Amino acid sequence: MTLLCNMDEARAAAFAKVFQSSLRDIPLSLDAASVEPEDVRYLLSWKVPDNIARYTNLEVMFCTSAGIDQISFDSLPTTVKLVRMVEDGIIRMMQEYVTLSVLMLHRNFIQYGHHQKQALWQSIPQPQATKRRIGILGLGVLAQAVIERLTPFGFPISSWSRSAKTIPGVACLSGDEGFSQLISTSDILICLLPLTDETAGLLDAELFSQMPKGASLVHVGRGGQLDHQALLEALDQDHLSAAILDVTEPEPLPSDHAVWSHPKITLTPHIASVTQPASAALAVSDNIRRHLQGHDLIGLVDRNRNY
Ligand code: NDP
Repeated sequence: MTLLCNMDEARAAAFAKVFQSSLRDIPLSLDAASVEPEDVRYLLSWKVPDNIARYTNLEVMFCTSAGIDQISFDSLPTTVKLVRMVEDGIIRMMQEYVTLSVLMLHRNFIQYGHHQKQALWQSIPQPQATKRRIGILGLGVLAQAVIERLTPFGFPISSWSRSAKTIPGVACLSGDEGFSQLISTSDILICLLPLTDETAGLLDAELFSQMPKGASLVHVGRGGQLDHQALLEALDQDHLSAAILDVTEPEPLPSDHAVWSHPKITLTPHIASVTQPASAALAVSDNIRRHLQGHDLIGLVDRNRNY
């Protein structure tokens, strides 16, 4: 019963350091070439390896990332469970990134940055947080963690998910009607959806036209959810006031793409949150124990929903 880490040497070593104490009783392999394929019961990898069929006794593939849109389900045997990464490091970083983005937008830091370059000493009317409506697309692990951080500021928060949910103090919406309601009442819209056939291209011209004039976007889901041209047009027409993007399609965008230099766009290179080997290894260890004891796995992917 071996756990195989399929990743570069330095990263594998960082995970192994934790596994050596958290999974003492499970043999660990950092090198696919030196393990008997039939011994591999657990695999830790970002993608499905080309030769996955050789691991005939593989039961669970743990993905090193929270998003699993890089996974090709066709190549993953149906007998293998896929688990995405749910770990404290990712959660905390996403809380930081989104809170920072919301506060920058709420307190007009992007516009003040432009003012400074023009030596312009001029205040911008500032609503209280209780008047700045936040809308979140997605209400999963990360969105809920972000809500926890944003709540103390007093922003009215709405969210949208596939299934109906209840969170005290949050307007939890779902369905087409809920979607329209969320979009039309979000002064700051945050996208924290997984990339699936249903969410691809969701952030498009129609959505932007439904947002309140002067609203802004924080996009931390996946680049494939955003129509970049439609966003540029919504910003150029002054319908939207700003966008903070952590993800694009492709990554990176070509160096002459208008997103790079647009004055209303702040772009970061997919760093909102990054898997932290120390805490991620503990999450994997915990899940392996759960699996051995026949308990539900945390972050188990539903193949029918693709997330
Ligand atoms: P979860 O699976 O926990 O949550 C996903 C949420 O999206 C759920 O609330 C789900 O609804 C909702 N959802 C999915 N599809 C639809 C749909 N078609 N219509 C309405 N709601 C839908 O994921 P996480 O919160 O852990 O992560 C979300 C995404 O964040 C990841 O998939 C990844 O793309 C992105 N991410 C980005 C990072 C970055 O650095 N930029 C880092 C980590 C993640 P329901 O609750 O009903 O199932």
